[in-house]
Amino acid sequence: MSVLNSKYDVIIIGAGPVGIYASIRLAEAGFGVLVIEEDAQIGKPRFCTGLISKEAFDQFSLPEGAIEEEFSFATIFSPSGLKLRLKSKSPVYATDRTTFDQGLYRRAKEAGVKFLLSCRCLALKVNNDFAEVKVALGASERIIRAEVIILATGIKYSLHKFVGLTLPPDFLDCSQVQTAGRAGEGIEIYLGNSIAPRSFAWVVPLRKNELRIGMSTYQNSVSFLKTLLKKLSLKGDFNIMRRPIPLGTIKNTYTDRVLAVGDAAGQVKPTTGGGIYFGLLCADLAAKTIIDAFKAGDFSKKFLRRYEINWKKRIEFDLTMGLYLRKLIADFSDEQIEKLIQFSAQEQTQRIIEKYGDFNHHGRLIKELVKRPLFWKSLYQMLISK
Ligand SMILES: Cc1cc2nc3c(=O)[nH]c(=O)nc-3n(C[C@H](O)[C@H](O)[C@H](O)COP(=O)(O)OP(=O)(O)OC[C@H]3O[C@@H](n4cnc5c(N)ncnc54)[C@H](O)[C@@H]3O)c2cc1C
Repeated sequence: MSVLNSKYDVIIIGAGPVGIYASIRLAEAGFGVLVIEEDAQIGKPRFCTGLISKEAFDQFSLPEGAIEEEFSFATIFSPSGLKLRLKSKSPVYATDRTTFDQGLYRRAKEAGVKFLLSCRCLALKVNNDFAEVKVALGASERIIRAEVIILATGIKYSLHKFVGLTLPPDFLDCSQVQTAGRAGEGIEIYLGNSIAPRSFAWVVPLRKNELRIGMSTYQNSVSFLKTLLKKLSLKGDFNIMRRPIPLGTIKNTYTDRVLAVGDAAGQVKPTTGGGIYFGLLCADLAAKTIIDAFKAGDFSKKFLRRYEINWKKRIEFDLTMGLYLRKLIADFSDEQIEKLIQFSAQEQTQRIIEKYGDFNHHGRLIKELVKRPLFWKSLYQMLISK
């Protein structure tokens, strides 16, 4: 098997937003970066709702051409149809993920990143002097070498085992469709065990009377999505996309010469399943760690461990609180969900939500809510109702 001549500083496997963003940060710092992607086109097929906060756009200079719609609130519907409106402090955008990913791709190419598309990585190997990736290039297999590898493979975990990394502990089963339909006022979220058992469904109105409708459950998301489409009186030949979302992070996100980022590491908000913001944040931290590793000439897991320490400082609290909340609510009956909505609609709760609500970080709000006696009183009432 032939070894490709050039050795790169960094190989990134996966050209989703997280992998591409890490490549930009590293190329801008002067490193030779190769991104390997098994799909033929960046951002296709599109499967994501693309809800991203304005803060994320500001923080990471994201491609504004991808913004399709802007929202300032979401309405949550209880199983019986009670409505709870949640205002957002700053805009949340619905973005076209194909345009979004391709915008990042153009930026990466301008920064000097090399891309190998339609190229599947089959295996990884790490030794004292370098890391190597075995790839399928057309009908042949090749080896490509680098000092460090970033695993940004999204929800595909087949490469993790080669370097002793684990899988996320759990997954949501999600489906989505984009179809013509009358646009509502804002984002709509539907709760209830006959609609989206143990999780939620969503409707995002886009310009030109298009809707992006999604379903998250733990199983059978496609069948629940079809039922929801009927309930919303939407008919047609739907092209339903199905994809899991990781819940919980992998055990270690680093090892000798390898870091894992984004969905590949399980860096996803457990409350909503949104992974773009945390993924970009961690891609930035992964790039910083690798830049430091080059300065120190040390790519050992002992050195790379600082990546995990740093991302945990930023998002571990949100991840932990989000997982607790999800576990608490997952087994709620419809009656208990009604009580939860009533609790959330109370004036005191609304004030706390307004003060501490944050589209990207949910930990602080959950902490502030559970500190209040009203929460425990309401929780008691929720738990004693069937
Ligand atoms: C229905 C749905 C709706 C969502 N809505 C939102 C939302 O509104 N907001 C939000 O923030 N998040 C949302 N998410 C989550 C979001 O899509 C992911 O968190 C995000 O795409 C993760 O980016 P990534 O770069 O880590 O992985 P990905 O975008 O999955 O990219 C990984 C890339 O790696 C490539 N790859 C994998 N294995 C190999 C291999 N062996 N060789 C070569 N290439 C490989 C894949 O082809 C892929 O292109 C949603 C997810 C779903 C399923």
